[in-house]
Amino acid sequence: MEIPKRFRGKVAIVTASTQGIGFAIAERLGLEGASVVISSRKQQNVDAAAEKLRAKGIEVLAVVCHVSNAQQRKDLIDKTVQKYGKIDVVVSNAAANPSVDPILQTKDSVLDKLWEINVKTCILLLKDAVPHMQKGSSVVIISSITGFNPPSSLAMYGVTKTALLGLTKALAAEMAPYTRVNCVAPGFVPTNFSSFLTTNDAVRQELEGKTLLGRLGTTEDMAAATAFLASEDASYITGETIVVSGGMPSRL
Ligand code: NAP
Repeated sequence: MEIPKRFRGKVAIVTASTQGIGFAIAERLGLEGASVVISSRKQQNVDAAAEKLRAKGIEVLAVVCHVSNAQQRKDLIDKTVQKYGKIDVVVSNAAANPSVDPILQTKDSVLDKLWEINVKTCILLLKDAVPHMQKGSSVVIISSITGFNPPSSLAMYGVTKTALLGLTKALAAEMAPYTRVNCVAPGFVPTNFSSFLTTNDAVRQELEGKTLLGRLGTTEDMAAATAFLASEDASYITGETIVVSGGMPSRL
């Protein structure tokens, strides 16, 4: 398939983008012509990911940004604006899942961490980004299929992902008509994040069996949907969530 060039001249920030879904999104936007700003917590991961993207001819700025660190969030935005002068796309992709406990047995500190990383930092990053966002710009928030029906092993994580579905609607209203805000809810994708599920053969088969297409997702599947929503092809879509789950049960 020939990749279109929908992001020529555009500047895209993707959080948590040194591997997995975030990396694939940065790669896709970059291959489509965007200057991409990648980030994650560890300098060595940021450097390695930047090198891989540059090897594919992608223009990259690489910044260390733990999304919970206010100074690092500010640096991410400031360095982007210093280098490229504007922001066209923000993809909020960072998340944590520090617990598999039932919700009522989850420690207070873990509840705080889940809300902070999965929901609050998305808002805080956008607060910093908004003054630099262009007319026609776009935000894509990465939620999860678990946001629709939080499974017992991912219950509180799932609830934070439910919150992102509402956040998408609320921000779409606040940021319209200048900026569109949409959401991608991935199904299960083998990455480090999900390896505790997807490397277990029995669990993997059970998850595959819950899809209509008979397979787990790929990071490229998630990147393609994100690129669509961020692009002009989706110029009349805002406040929406696309479920990219191979047909797993989500909603009518
Ligand atoms: P992944 O492959 O494990 O990658 C996680 C990335 O995030 C790495 O680049 C990591 O780099 C960075 N990171 C972790 N914590 C961070 C933080 N606090 N601040 C900044 N960067 C951080 O994960 P993934 O599966 O692609 O998940 C990405 C998103 O997709 C998450 O929002 C997740 O909830 C969502 N999702 C995933 C699945 C799935 O099945 N994989 C399904 C539904 C939704 P460093 O270690 O260098 O920080």
